[in-house]
Amino acid sequence: MTQTDNITSPRAIVIGGSLGGLFAGTMLRKAGWIVDIFERSTHDLDSRGGGVVLQPDVVQVFREVGIKISKMNLGVPSKDRVVYSKDGTVVDRRAAPQIQTSWSLIYTTLKEVFGDEHYHRGRVLKDIEQDRDAKTVTAIFDDGSRETGDLLVGADGNGSTVRQLIWPQSKPTYAGYLAWRGLIPEDGLTPAAKEGLSGDFGFSNTTGSHILGYLVPGEHNATSVGERIYNWVWYRVANDETLRSIMTDKDGKYRGFSMPEGKLSEHWKEHVYREADELLPRPFREAVRSTHEPFGQAIRDLTVPSMVDGRVVLLGDAAFIPRPHTAASTSKAAANAISLYDTLTSVPNDIDEALARWEPRQLYLGKVLYEQGTRAGDSLLFRRDLNERVG
Ligand SMILES: Cc1cc2nc3c(=O)[nH]c(=O)nc-3n(C[C@H](O)[C@H](O)[C@H](O)COP(=O)(O)OP(=O)(O)OC[C@H]3O[C@@H](n4cnc5c(N)ncnc54)[C@H](O)[C@@H]3O)c2cc1C
Repeated sequence: MTQTDNITSPRAIVIGGSLGGLFAGTMLRKAGWIVDIFERSTHDLDSRGGGVVLQPDVVQVFREVGIKISKMNLGVPSKDRVVYSKDGTVVDRRAAPQIQTSWSLIYTTLKEVFGDEHYHRGRVLKDIEQDRDAKTVTAIFDDGSRETGDLLVGADGNGSTVRQLIWPQSKPTYAGYLAWRGLIPEDGLTPAAKEGLSGDFGFSNTTGSHILGYLVPGEHNATSVGERIYNWVWYRVANDETLRSIMTDKDGKYRGFSMPEGKLSEHWKEHVYREADELLPRPFREAVRSTHEPFGQAIRDLTVPSMVDGRVVLLGDAAFIPRPHTAASTSKAAANAISLYDTLTSVPNDIDEALARWEPRQLYLGKVLYEQGTRAGDSLLFRRDLNERVG
């Protein structure tokens, strides 16, 4: 997918080159815009977590930007949703066919479509200037460089600099629990774990503990049997002090809200294994025990009152972070980008009008997912009714 640097084409500056930035970048280019993505990371992004439930909006972006989905494996199918009690009995099994993909598969697929030429690594946004008369916006980077365009898309994730600059009152808040996570090559699963968990979407809940897992594509997006990866996510309640200790890595560095694979301290690694023995049914217990490098992510909530300010828009996790129980944060970023394309192409000569049409539905989507996710998470982890929290 190439872009012609036509003098009359509007220019978009996209901050953040993860999934939200790539959804927006590829869709804006399809709308005829000149698009440059600026990503603070100096290297290709990878290992960003694991499994993602494949949702229709992601498939739609793939189709819209010309990816031949009939010629690729989009992920790993699962057949049933299976719920285990703590003693290992199956308490519920129902057919729920779906496909699980991975962050890496979506990223590498879109990155290949977008190409390297207009994807700029190692560029850290520091400030934004808007000329409201000229209807332009300028991104200022930490190396002093500047880029001016007709639209700036803040796709810079949950710690968004764009949001901090323009919506400083909107900050993520800790939800009171974290997700322990693990990725294991499927051949590394014990026979009991493989038999109990492979091919299905497995769950097990007890008070203050909720685990789920499924197979996702393996290295180089491989989906053949034997090459896939088992991905588990285990939610556990943790107060602020405990979270701070968990997020202090094995070298003593405090990492805030996300502990990458390979960095968890021995103390907390042992804790995860010990709690698996105490709280989980055998298939999950053995899956967790077989994971050499568990990692963790604090669950946080974020909403914003608006997503447009002049020629700046926010999308993806920069705007709303729905709880992961919605399985919708990646698809929300895709939906934001699809809708941006739709509105900009439906009023091609009036960007302001297009943004005014774009915003209300995106705010609605973000709020609905926020409420759904909060309801699900609070009920699962705290047995708390949503009405006590956001009603
Ligand atoms: C560590 C991690 C693991 C995740 N795992 C999963 C998962 O397993 N399943 C799932 O569904 N979702 C997962 N997510 C969330 C999912 O990736 C996002 O919902 C989805 O990618 C849309 O997010 P985003 O692109 O809006 O933000 P992000 O994925 O957070 O990307 C934001 C990007 O902006 C860049 N950036 C930030 N600040 C600046 C700046 N000042 N200048 C330039 N660039 C900047 C960051 O480096 C990053 O690449 C994960 C996210 C993270 C961060």
